[in-house]
Amino acid sequence: MSEYISTRGNTEAVGALTAIRRGIAPDGGLYLPESLPSLSLARILALAPLSYQERAQTLLSLFLSELEKAELRAMVDLAYGPQWDTPRIAPIRAFDKLAFLELWHGPTCAFKDLALQLLPHLLTAAAARAGSSAEIVILVATSGDTGKAALAGFADIPGTRIIVFYPKEGVSSVQERQMVTQTGGNVHVVAVQGNFDDAQAGVKAIFTDERLLAALSRANKEFSSANSINWGRLVPQIVYYFSGYLDMVAQGLVAAGDSINVVVPSGNFGNILAAHYARRMGLPIARLICASNRNRVLTDFLRTGVYDRNRPFYRTSSPSMDILVSSNVERLLFELADRDSSQVRAWQESLARTGRYELSPGQRERLQAEFWGGFADEEATRAAIARTYRELGYVVDPHTAVAVHVFREYVHTTGDRRPTLIASTASPFKFSRVVLEAIWEGETFPEDELELLPVLSDRLQLEIPAGLADLARRPVLHDMVCAPAEMKQVVAGLLGLTQS
Ligand SMILES: *Cc1c(COP(=O)(O)O)cnc(C)c1O
Repeated sequence: MSEYISTRGNTEAVGALTAIRRGIAPDGGLYLPESLPSLSLARILALAPLSYQERAQTLLSLFLSELEKAELRAMVDLAYGPQWDTPRIAPIRAFDKLAFLELWHGPTCAFKDLALQLLPHLLTAAAARAGSSAEIVILVATSGDTGKAALAGFADIPGTRIIVFYPKEGVSSVQERQMVTQTGGNVHVVAVQGNFDDAQAGVKAIFTDERLLAALSRANKEFSSANSINWGRLVPQIVYYFSGYLDMVAQGLVAAGDSINVVVPSGNFGNILAAHYARRMGLPIARLICASNRNRVLTDFLRTGVYDRNRPFYRTSSPSMDILVSSNVERLLFELADRDSSQVRAWQESLARTGRYELSPGQRERLQAEFWGGFADEEATRAAIARTYRELGYVVDPHTAVAVHVFREYVHTTGDRRPTLIASTASPFKFSRVVLEAIWEGETFPEDELELLPVLSDRLQLEIPAGLADLARRPVLHDMVCAPAEMKQVVAGLLGLTQS
């Protein structure tokens, strides 16, 4: 069962549940499976008649061998149950050879629900399996959608507590409102005066603070992470790429076995990495197209082989992609280095010290054979929202619009007209202002973003999703604000820890 290893190579292999419970490996690396399961085409196609829950059960069981079949099935049914607004969970919406994989039918209207509705069940099972009575404390740094999705997943789950840090000026007002109105006896929400990278660096520092960890263990608590570096976040995301492909086959967009391209609007690189793993397991994906916003560090990395975070940080209309250090890239580096963890450590040290690292020419070529990178600036993002609505009568949120723009650029540049699946990562209602102003350019709309939801609903003749419908009426339950340097004390305070 010891099949999960660290990208940094300085720790013993562990089982999936332990990897998920720890979140990050003791050597600071990220866990990944020693070998990925591989599926023949026949086995993949055999999933076609199954429901999403059954597809998930089958694929997840390949990674979670420690769980009994019935136990996993119960978790899957809890995770993908009536809190979703469609029993298909992640349906596709097809236009000729282009399909959108709608990943926002869950309780918080963004794709992170796919993982975070399942993760709490995996974590509590992992703790029980290890015979631990410690309270699991989830620390989250969020650029917006993770925070609410994690809060919704963990609220009132026995044996857990969750503390979410979000950048005060780095999330939309709807996202902020979703978080600060979260109910539950075990939830805490704190605004940080900084950007997402500050919040993420603060959380990473807390996870490795010896004194805090000692105090935590004296209080019979243990940290875990629900951030996208946790293997438990990645594994549920692999499922929907299989599901999306099978739905494209079922709807006649692609012949069974023929390959597709997949476009993923990317920030921390978790979602696209899940697609990459699906491909390595045998799903016929040709190119993975990584779409970035104006914070185009991933685009430059894919084009030049140089990862360089020394650049201005921009706030954009797609805040969940406003990231300069994409943590999950480390798992890809492990592959590019042919699993040489000393090489991974050298790159990460270089990133920490100088803000950059560089692949060899051979590594860069391998990367480029599998990935293509592009970006959309703010104007291109708005134009993509308007054009998609005009041409397809379909409304996309700004993150998905970034992907649409990059998809068009990819086709234009390469001439590759393969059937394509675009990961649609958020409901347009989460970003009503951007969407309204893009489609009805020049009009002025109410100041208050919450008032825009009914406006968008009227114009598009679409219902406001349940998770957003009564936001304006919910009371604000969290109003704590801190500086990045204060995050440690905030955590100690909220947990009642005494540091000796
Ligand atoms: C988190 C998020 C992304 C970026 O996904 P990564 O896995 O971090 O690359 C894109 N769009 C939306 C709406 C998100 O919430």
